[in-house]
Amino acid sequence: MNEFDHRVIGDVRIVALSRHGGASRGYFESLNVASYVGDDPQDVARNIESAGKLVGVSDVAVMNAAHSAIVHVIDGPGLCQDGDALITTQRNLGLLALSADCVTVALVDTAGPAIAVVHAGWRGVLSHVVVAAVNGMVEGGAQTSNIKAVVGPSICANCYEVSAELVNQFRFECEQAVHDDRHLNLANGVIAQLSECEISSEVMTGCTFENDDLFSYRRAGGLPTGRGGLIVARTESS
Ligand SMILES: [Zn+2]
Repeated sequence: MNEFDHRVIGDVRIVALSRHGGASRGYFESLNVASYVGDDPQDVARNIESAGKLVGVSDVAVMNAAHSAIVHVIDGPGLCQDGDALITTQRNLGLLALSADCVTVALVDTAGPAIAVVHAGWRGVLSHVVVAAVNGMVEGGAQTSNIKAVVGPSICANCYEVSAELVNQFRFECEQAVHDDRHLNLANGVIAQLSECEISSEVMTGCTFENDDLFSYRRAGGLPTGRGGLIVARTESS
């Protein structure tokens, strides 16, 4: 019930959270994993614990997204400093990226210990945060040819209307994300950037705006809402 979709790559499990089966009430009903939206901190902590269980861990590091290209290499649980990519080489440590419409990505080194999660809204696509995360993994010893990517559910191009000015900016800086004169496909932008690194992506289908099983910032229409996300962990091989 907590899980919207999942993938397994070797000893790494990747789960997209649904909005169901959590402790939160009201606007945040019910599996909100964001502590900054006005929800009860104890409920959020319980929800993060539930998210960890989905990937088989009790320790979870939670991203504090800032629409940046900042990458953190971490080795312990808790709320991270501002940044939009988390990398770890630790087993049994979950990495959680929060999102309600933005693109989330899990990166898995299939030949080494590193895993990562990334959060990218339009600013993150323009700043190539996913490439920054790949570079961080490579600096840690990974080879791009061994990295696999899984892209979480996000808002689809039909539902993601933006200004003509922003679309024009994307035409110059990441044209693969341009859907038409007023719509962006952020997932396509991220997939194209990964493809330029010669990394292939698997995509979880589902539009956050259209699917009520997922949190959506836009669907909330200015009211408070929760955040779902993508969690990834490498557990002990059995
Ligand atoms: Zn849609």
